[in-house]
Amino acid sequence: MLSRKIAHQNQVICVEDLAVKNLVKNPNLAKAISDQGWGIFLTMLKYKAERFGHTYQEIGRFFPSSQLCSETLLPIPILQKGYDSLGVRLVDCPHCLHRHDRDINGAKNIKNEGLRVLALGTSASTLGGEVRPKS
Ligand SMILES: [Zn+2]
Repeated sequence: MLSRKIAHQNQVICVEDLAVKNLVKNPNLAKAISDQGWGIFLTMLKYKAERFGHTYQEIGRFFPSSQLCSETLLPIPILQKGYDSLGVRLVDCPHCLHRHDRDINGAKNIKNEGLRVLALGTSASTLGGEVRPKS
């Protein structure tokens, strides 16, 4: 299964804690997300990663992963060429002057934020996270 392969091959896995329920309310996304069973997938991924002794780190859903340039961390003007539309996959970044693929740029931001949170040794994030007491 894909979750086992990812959990096995990666010592650190960073994922976005998507608000699945809210996305499913969006009719354009509902089918894709429901079909993939994203929440179940993440649950399995976390379980398997921990079984391999690997680190699973969720990033808060309010982290603007798709709206930051992954190289400069500056905000990409989201109205540029309709970047707020999910149909737009590529954006010419005014900061680093590269052409970002929306998904890859977002994934880099999630990884960097995840590593930053891990380095701090807390799940508290400046952009809003959860702090759980260690029990
Ligand atoms: Zn950029």
